[in-house]
Amino acid sequence: MILEALQREATARDRDDAFAGLRDEFRIPQHQGREQHYFCGNSLGLMPKAAAEMVQEVIDDWAQLAVEGHFKAQHSWMHYHTLVRDALAHMVGAKPVEVVAMNTLSVNLHLMMVSFYRPSAQRPAILIEAGAFPSDRHAVESQIRFHGFDPERDLIELAADEANGTLSMEAFQRAFAEHGSRIALALLPGVQYRTGQALDIGAITALARQAGCAIGFDLAHSFGNIPLHLHDHGPDFAVWCHYKYGNAGPGAVAGCFVHERHARADLPRFAGWWGHEAGTRFLMGPQFIPAPGADGWQLSNPPVLAMAPLRASLALFERAGMATLRAKSERLTGFLEQAIQQHLTTALEILTPSEPARRGCQLSLRVRGGRDQGLALFEYLVAQGVLGDWREPDVIRISPAPLYNNFADIAGFVEHTAAWAARH
Ligand SMILES: *Cc1c(COP(=O)(O)O)cnc(C)c1O
Repeated sequence: MILEALQREATARDRDDAFAGLRDEFRIPQHQGREQHYFCGNSLGLMPKAAAEMVQEVIDDWAQLAVEGHFKAQHSWMHYHTLVRDALAHMVGAKPVEVVAMNTLSVNLHLMMVSFYRPSAQRPAILIEAGAFPSDRHAVESQIRFHGFDPERDLIELAADEANGTLSMEAFQRAFAEHGSRIALALLPGVQYRTGQALDIGAITALARQAGCAIGFDLAHSFGNIPLHLHDHGPDFAVWCHYKYGNAGPGAVAGCFVHERHARADLPRFAGWWGHEAGTRFLMGPQFIPAPGADGWQLSNPPVLAMAPLRASLALFERAGMATLRAKSERLTGFLEQAIQQHLTTALEILTPSEPARRGCQLSLRVRGGRDQGLALFEYLVAQGVLGDWREPDVIRISPAPLYNNFADIAGFVEHTAAWAARH
């Protein structure tokens, strides 16, 4: 078989891989008695085995201690959100005071816009990318209306200017040059969910700030995928979820970054008791005194059960180290890209940029021949135990997550796709 060499190469690479051991820390879904080739970490990451213990610990403390668990649990619930703070700060390149785990992504996005989208008649607009994730688009459109402005005029959707639907740096330069004085807030992805393109967060932040605009990033597809340097790059805020590459389970509590320059600023916000300065919170006074930093945006006491698996997942990221993890990720995705170019160009076209600096681990693949062909291939792969995900009208996203995917997974994807292509 033509692909024997690819299988041999994959086996050799897995044997020499210092990361191979981390795969054993995850539960890999089974397909007909074998491990599934799981490429959906961009949607829901696999379960770290230790997550079950972390959740069980909370359940046991609840059973034994009830209300006293707030103080006496093995990890007190009162302070549970602080258990993940340092690891989160490492993951996103922030200072501990700049990050907090709270709520869910879309909720955090709204809370951030309450503080950082402050439109005026001269500067009413929000800039996003065309084809943004629906939740983000709904959020910005509803915020514009809420402030009495008109999305028809005041929502600027930056159109792709590159062949495969991606954005050049020049597109951002032109957008800020043309509209900068009208833009109150730019909200952009770290990695675009549809194309897999990674944006240059530092350069785009600099452009926005030169133009006097607030800027925030949605890092749903960036967290746990690419190294981040939020403090140094300097956006006003960022939000992300932890159930994708963060592997913290369905509905996991999300993350939020507020740059240190706003740590003590008296920004307007929607307040709740958990954002109150911790030392005096339980005096239960009527006046809101925000905790310094990102903590001051919390509303409610931490959702401990939704936060427990995140501790298990972050421990694995800490063990791997984001820089070495990224190096492995570039090797894995590079292997996938090369194999597609060698064996699958009659069936697939890669939409994601080929420069490693302009992508994360995901490759978005357009299936040649249109929607019906695409769906047929996608369903064939699922039946063979190869799980990617489908984006209308003709795209399959394949995301090798470096913590648990191996080179053999990629060889499996290529082999099954080649077998299908040979018959179509
Ligand atoms: C996954 C994702 C979301 C999901 O939002 P939730 O509030 O977690 O449901 C939102 N925005 C983007 C860009 C995403 O990729």
